Amino acid sequence: MEDRRTQEKQYNAADEKIISRILDHKVHISFEVFPPRIHENYDKTMHVTEEIAKLDPAFISVTFRSGDGINGNTVQIASHIRNDLGVSSLAHLACSSTSRAEIHQVLGSLKENGISNVLALRGDIPQNGPFPRPDGFQYASELIDVIRSEGDFCIGAACYPEGHVDSANRKEDVRYLKKKVDCGTDFLITQMFFDNTILYNFLYRIREQGITIPVIPGIMPVTSAKQIKHICEISGTALPQRFLAIIDRFGERPMAMQQAGIAYATDQIIDLIANGINNIHIYSMNKPEVAAAIVSNLSEIIHREPKK
Ligand code: FAD
Repeated sequence: MEDRRTQEKQYNAADEKIISRILDHKVHISFEVFPPRIHENYDKTMHVTEEIAKLDPAFISVTFRSGDGINGNTVQIASHIRNDLGVSSLAHLACSSTSRAEIHQVLGSLKENGISNVLALRGDIPQNGPFPRPDGFQYASELIDVIRSEGDFCIGAACYPEGHVDSANRKEDVRYLKKKVDCGTDFLITQMFFDNTILYNFLYRIREQGITIPVIPGIMPVTSAKQIKHICEISGTALPQRFLAIIDRFGERPMAMQQAGIAYATDQIIDLIANGINNIHIYSMNKPEVAAAIVSNLSEIIHREPKK
């Protein structure tokens, strides 16, 4: 019985690579959720994913906590999204703190659960411990090689319109991005940005270098002034004047900040879609009410995916 269920899941998975949806010329929205820490109860995350699944997104991605390895909850949550909620899931997999053997185990679990979409990442460099690990990987491109050789996965990777913080310059960053794409990446998701001209400029530069796969802009609706300043400091993301004015005016009033953050993100998304971009990924920060507000603002613009 168990074997038959597993086979059925694998059979269905063959039809649900998200790249086919990304390329179907409809306007899609997708969301990101993050799992709880290893020992935390994950009922709250389950509730979050259930609420977000009700919005009929193209897919929901589940982040991977570097350092948690195979003990993290990414695969369980991605499986819940796909197998219980009927929405395609994209499981993140980060290799900076994960051994090759653990990567094989995670890929095996993804296959068992019928999950065929993986976002392949390096992850942050661990503060304690060697990097790269002697039994591990240094760059996401090496991980992509392994995922490609281990099964019929649809593979996404990260890209950085403002350049990755470790890169000497943007030109070098794009050169390595091209290498990562050439290893067999099907699509890219961007780091968040708050000025669409940065994205348009990035797309121009990478297309010139022969990177032609779909790029999904990652949009963060900012709901906390303190949190966004911290995230931008770490990631090197620029905050434009127009956005800083919003933080100055509403930053001390959480509900006003949330409303302004949703409006700003909606405005960014409408501009992207108006300029021909069909797929948008929302960093919804486990806040279903924020995800729902964005979907409501775009109700006549986006395609909602029927459940399986
Ligand atoms: P890489 O593509 O390996 O690049 C890392 C750096 O190395 C870059 O500066 C690049 O230019 C350089 N480089 C690449 N190849 C070479 C080479 N051959 N020689 C020399 N230099 C090279 N982190 C998590 O821990 N978990 C997550 O779930 C997660 N999800 C994310 C989702 C998205 C959409 C994004 C944008 C980021 C996410 N991150 C996540 C963060 C990500 O892991 C970090 O930004 C990390 O520092 C870089 O990961 P990468 O996969 O882009 O690395």
